[in-house]
Amino acid sequence: MTTYPSVQLFIDGEWCDAADGRTLEIIDPATGQEIGRLAHAGKADLDRALESVERGFKVWSETSVFARYKLMRKAANLLRERASDIAWIMTKENGKPLGQSKAEVLGGADTIDWLAEEGRRSYGQIIPSRFPGAIQMTMKMPVGPVAAFTPWNFPINQIVRKLSAALATGCSIIVKAPEETPASPAELIRCFVDAGIPAGVINLVYGVPSEISEYLIPHPTIAKISFTGSTPVGKQLAALAGLHMKRATMELGGHAPVIVFDDADVEKAIKLMSVHKYRNAGQVCVSPTRFLIQEGVADRFTEGFIEASKATKVGNGLEDGVEMGPLANERRIPALEGLISDAVDAGATLQTGGKRIGNQGYFFEPTVLTDVPTTARIMNEEPFGPVAVINRFADDEEAFTEANRLPFGLAAYSFTSSSERAHALATRVNAGMMTINHLGLAVPEVPFGGIKDSGYGTEGGSEALEAYLETRFVTQMQ
Ligand code: NAD
Repeated sequence: MTTYPSVQLFIDGEWCDAADGRTLEIIDPATGQEIGRLAHAGKADLDRALESVERGFKVWSETSVFARYKLMRKAANLLRERASDIAWIMTKENGKPLGQSKAEVLGGADTIDWLAEEGRRSYGQIIPSRFPGAIQMTMKMPVGPVAAFTPWNFPINQIVRKLSAALATGCSIIVKAPEETPASPAELIRCFVDAGIPAGVINLVYGVPSEISEYLIPHPTIAKISFTGSTPVGKQLAALAGLHMKRATMELGGHAPVIVFDDADVEKAIKLMSVHKYRNAGQVCVSPTRFLIQEGVADRFTEGFIEASKATKVGNGLEDGVEMGPLANERRIPALEGLISDAVDAGATLQTGGKRIGNQGYFFEPTVLTDVPTTARIMNEEPFGPVAVINRFADDEEAFTEANRLPFGLAAYSFTSSSERAHALATRVNAGMMTINHLGLAVPEVPFGGIKDSGYGTEGGSEALEAYLETRFVTQMQ
């Protein structure tokens, strides 16, 4: 792939421009230059998408589950075949290193496969009856047309979880994909189109996010919404969904604690967590953020983490050996600068990084802050960037209290060789996902989701399909 494509809407089985011809620019975050144009949906396009998704639901919900499975598996294989080209597009629009883009595309294919297979196991039950001769059963039925809203940090991964769960259960979908990173999602959809998805089952739009969500969520055609993004926006959309009695899945912000105990393999913790921190330039909802290190290993951990941060190679994601690309958009730069200067003003020590790199593109230094007071904004707001905060703790209680201090509850990480501590971590840290002594999140077959202000519902594992199904009960007497 040598050229970046211009991006159209996909409605009723056709790629199309916006009815009023409006377009938006697409920027390469490594250069700050325009690389393409994106069709911008208006109300007329949304109305067409709504009519289309309603027709698509009728067709798809009446398609056999086996036929749905086969088509999805075909789309997954097309995605694998096209992974190198799509990864190039993703890096161009999002900035992440090419290897990370390719892993995301291939991971997307695995997600399609997993959910396609699970769709075949959407079992109901036969329930023993208290009435002689009665047969009581439950059936799992698709909930209806879905509206999905996804962000720019994982242009394919964020969509493929929602799209695959919807398709596997017999739902149709309108995806409002990210305006900053629109072309790789369009290529994902193209794999389903080329695999033979019937018109109307998948619809793809871009535009002004708030205008689209405010129009689609209340609309009677839409039965379910799924959103990935920040907690404040998620709360607004959940409220709107509630007002209109719509089912909702909310995949929101996090502020992941990383608890490293004195008995841990510290070198392993440094290695895994430094790579994980700077993956996707820290713009990840499960990014490790609040490092809580027990006093006995705090000096070694901090020193090793700073070394690893300084050694992280930052550059254009298309270049060989680059480990961290630019931030995905310009507004993240002042957001991070503000959080870092606020922390320093509050008494934190800036150990490395803290600044934008150069003045072309949106590059930012891998940054480590230590001894950060809990009153600093960065200890309370999701930084969503390449910034690690390292603080010390004396005993286990102190670590658990700090880990649970915030209203977020998405991912948590820990390193310990004690099985007693591991059990305490699993039961006492309030997080939707806990990973101990390794990195094991976000693979298709395990749940992915948060609790508390990090949202509700899960987008992985067999539970992921529940959100797209409704339980119907039938009781029958001969
Ligand atoms: P933002 O809150 O403006 O947007 C975040 C995402 O939500 C974007 O994809 C945007 O298109 C969408 N969005 C915003 N308002 C919406 C609305 N009313 N209806 C539908 N969609 C809407 O912030 P941003 O500057 O793009 O990103 C920064 C913050 O967003 C981060 O600090 C982080 O908390 C959050 N975020 C989270 C994730 C995640 O994976 N959970 C991904 C991207 C951004």
